[in-house]
Amino acid sequence: MTHADTLHLVCPHCHTTNRVAVQHLDHAPDCGRCHRPLFIGRPAALDAASFDKHLQRSDLPLLVDFWAPWCGPCRTMAPAFEAATAQLEPQLRLAKVDTEAEQQLAARFQIRSIPTLALFWQGREIARQPGAMGTSEIVRWTRAALARPR
Ligand SMILES: [Zn+2]
Repeated sequence: MTHADTLHLVCPHCHTTNRVAVQHLDHAPDCGRCHRPLFIGRPAALDAASFDKHLQRSDLPLLVDFWAPWCGPCRTMAPAFEAATAQLEPQLRLAKVDTEAEQQLAARFQIRSIPTLALFWQGREIARQPGAMGTSEIVRWTRAALARPR
């Protein structure tokens, strides 16, 4: 098997990097360390340490919902983001960052309003969209951003 046939995936539970054959992506792969599913149909909750693992070590694009518990529009968008996760996995990893608990991350990415969606790939941010969105809007926006030439 050549390198191109495998992807590095970061576990949403223990944040260990796994190597998974591309043809196994659609067959509910498990984490080699904690043996839990690598895709769970809902966003992974990330803190500063786990965020960097998903940003730097995963071959999948990372779509992040920057939110806060006190933010009404964020709570409204949460079920839409979870439904979008089911549609976008396993091509992407979806994650949530609580900007109240993780103020360093919010400052580092200069999150000025919430909710804000930010799409990262290969270690850098490639698109950002402030404001609440519905499920189909999230999916459409993400696919369009990934399809744009870089
Ligand atoms: Zn794991």
